Amino acid sequence: MSSSLQAYIFALLLSLSSLGFGAESEGLKNLEHAQHLELAQPKGSKSLLKFGVIADMQFYDPLKYGNKAVKGKASDRRSRHYLKTPDRLREAIGKFKKHHTAFAFNLGDLIDRGFESYDIPLEIMEESDLEWHHVLGNHEYSVEDEEKPLVLGRLGMPAPYYQFVAESANMRFVVLNANEYSTLAFPKDTERYEESKALKKMFKAKYKKSGADDPWCVPEGISGALGASQLEFLRGALEEAELLNQQVLIMSHQPADWIWDYHALMDTVRPFRKNIIAFMSGHLHTGDEDILEGIPSISLKAMFESPENAFTIGKVYANRLELHEYGRQKFEGKKSLTLYFSPNVSSATQHP
Ligand SMILES: [Zn+2]
Repeated sequence: MSSSLQAYIFALLLSLSSLGFGAESEGLKNLEHAQHLELAQPKGSKSLLKFGVIADMQFYDPLKYGNKAVKGKASDRRSRHYLKTPDRLREAIGKFKKHHTAFAFNLGDLIDRGFESYDIPLEIMEESDLEWHHVLGNHEYSVEDEEKPLVLGRLGMPAPYYQFVAESANMRFVVLNANEYSTLAFPKDTERYEESKALKKMFKAKYKKSGADDPWCVPEGISGALGASQLEFLRGALEEAELLNQQVLIMSHQPADWIWDYHALMDTVRPFRKNIIAFMSGHLHTGDEDILEGIPSISLKAMFESPENAFTIGKVYANRLELHEYGRQKFEGKKSLTLYFSPNVSSATQHP
């Protein structure tokens, strides 16, 4: 184990023991009580930025693997329609282009398994002429060990985690990699695999010992840790956003409270809460809306699961982000979800 990882584990142990456990989490019905929403502002009509989002396409050809085309009863809400996803992606792209979105996000798990499964979704995305930003999911690594180091390049990603600013809305997008330490993402004979295994074991023991009642923080193979370097990157991004009065959307495949070092993540974001609109993720398939220490955490529904498609368009206005559902994407029964910016930040994002 490297000395930097040892130092990180030591710092985590301190943070875990001083903080206690149990994420502050409530349902969407309490969203209006969140710090962001206390001072809702009047609605304006002109959006400054639009972007598309898909989550959990999980494409693969089950017939090639000796499986059925649909997993489960086709009409069931939780049925899995692997072969319908190329058409569902095309439908989402059609809607994104109709709305002139500036770019689109793939929130991860683009494939279910098999490196060759990347071919079809990536070809459709390339042909769309849209600017795509990818987020790494756990299923990205359901490939042979020797193919795992090739995933980042296959997706054409600049780095496992990165950020960019959409100038038209003075808004910062921070993309995290919740598989930075993961027992799935690295070949078994590598140092990083051993480090990930050690971290998972350490977190499992700590969470168990503390009697944590938050079920999502229990370390599982399908999630992972961010690690010290990535948290430093996040802190730097948030410091810059604060300085420039920017609103920030933090994207990751796994929801924030699924990430092994969730408490270290919250330590990092807590001082910048007024600048953070929300965490946005996929991974849960059925969707979820939560509040984590005053920050909304929105998990979008999976494109491949259920007889209906699911994707979202985000519209950014001077004082708010509106998330609009398509297909079965519903935010607790409503067609859209509005997240208002913290007032002392939105004044800097008022464009004439
Ligand atoms: Zn996932």
